Amino acid sequence: MKVGKGSVVDIDYSLHLGDGKVIDQSGPGEPLSYIHGEGHIVPGLEQALEGLAAGDAKKVVVAPEDGYGPHDPRGLQEVPRDAFPADMKPEVGMQFTARGPQGEAVPFTVTDVKLESVVVDLNHPLAGKTLHFDVTVREVRAATGEELEHGHVHGEGGHHH
Ligand code: ZN
Repeated sequence: MKVGKGSVVDIDYSLHLGDGKVIDQSGPGEPLSYIHGEGHIVPGLEQALEGLAAGDAKKVVVAPEDGYGPHDPRGLQEVPRDAFPADMKPEVGMQFTARGPQGEAVPFTVTDVKLESVVVDLNHPLAGKTLHFDVTVREVRAATGEELEHGHVHGEGGHHH
């Protein structure tokens, strides 16, 4: 069976940003399971997997607009140094999570540390990046009606109810 809308797909994957340095990957023997066509993975990768079958391996290069979106300059914000707890020393590259107005988690990255202020970036860390995936399809099967209804994979590597 081939990867298409409504199939449950198990993939082994690794991700780098063009320099070969792996920044994310599935664990050995622990493939990522997702329902194809539901937007669970970045659009560029989902499109590239369409029509593949178990055992197929593919290198996929995903442009930012088909990945985590372009980098939005409005996401860069300068906040006072004392907005950080006194015992915390922000350094460039550090990632933190703040609370938004509705109590939601707002992850951000420190991009500059000045004397009185800190510049943070609210964009997704992979926004504006070209993504290089190495993917191997491990298994393809039809999603059950229940899985499609719930919008997630059941069983091994998925949800247990
Ligand atoms: Zn469920």
